[in-house]
Amino acid sequence: MNAFDYKRAATADEAVSSIGAGKFIGGGTNLVDLMKMGVERPSGLIDVTRVPLTEIEEHNNGVRIGGMTKNSAVATHPLIRKDYPVLAQALLAGASAQIRNMATVGGNLLQRTRCFYFYDPSYRECNKRAPGSGCAALHGYSRIHAVVGGSDHCIATHPSDMAVAMMALDAVVQVKGAGGERSIPITEFYRLPGATPQIETTLKHDELITAVDLPAPIGQKSHYLKVRDRNSYAFALTSVAAIVDIDDANRIRKARIAMGGVAPRPWRVHEAEDALTGKEPNPASYSAAAEILMRGAKSTRYNAFKVELAKRSVVRALSVAVEGEADA
Ligand code: SF4
Repeated sequence: MNAFDYKRAATADEAVSSIGAGKFIGGGTNLVDLMKMGVERPSGLIDVTRVPLTEIEEHNNGVRIGGMTKNSAVATHPLIRKDYPVLAQALLAGASAQIRNMATVGGNLLQRTRCFYFYDPSYRECNKRAPGSGCAALHGYSRIHAVVGGSDHCIATHPSDMAVAMMALDAVVQVKGAGGERSIPITEFYRLPGATPQIETTLKHDELITAVDLPAPIGQKSHYLKVRDRNSYAFALTSVAAIVDIDDANRIRKARIAMGGVAPRPWRVHEAEDALTGKEPNPASYSAAAEILMRGAKSTRYNAFKVELAKRSVVRALSVAVEGEADA
């Protein structure tokens, strides 16, 4: 690990004014690993764990979650469990209890891909780690890689479960930087890789995530489905956050679907949700939405299975959201 300066900030303003060329560090559950591997080599760390941004409170008919709130605190909070159960499910599906007790909401949104080649600098080719070097995954072992949204420069997937649920919930990320405060809808927060996979979000270097706002819930029928190689402490091969609102005539009034494990960012296609509006909640409707979500899918040698798995995951998640686990 390289030498670095360390400073603990007491306020968001102090953190922002101290950042320089360094990085913010919250729970450190991802950044420290990357520093140990030599992937991240920050000249300085600004510790924001003591910045008082840990409240979860009602806000504009929804909820505001402080950026430094621990993942475990969000998952168990009564407001989240009552009105946003899909978020609690997603958080509890991620990592381990120990990591959830350390990881912050802001850090979770900003965690880096778990692409093997990105993590191991002994592989020379990785455009995300070393821009212009190539992409080892395109001709390598691509089981965990993207089938939609990737580019000829990078097919890494975004690893967060929490971000998938927040995408379905239309979260808004609140940030503060040297230029002031701004709100970024989560649909505009993550970038697709294109030719610059090293730039992953629309966040500026000096901007700190101060909170995430969730608007009023759209319905209580929801489910987070995570498909993975083992049942704990594993990242998603596919995941789906599904939220459905059904009217009195048993038609879908609104639906929200976001996917993980299949794309470089939490994957949402509004057209798939629109296709469900007014339809009967049944496997044929769900399957039609799944086809739209996977439209244009492009697999590599080891991840072709993901396209069909993703479609089945969407149908399953919507079925469980509407009918419950036992009848799905
Ligand atoms: Fe690097 Fe992206 Fe290719 Fe992985 S998929 S090796 S992160 S460029």
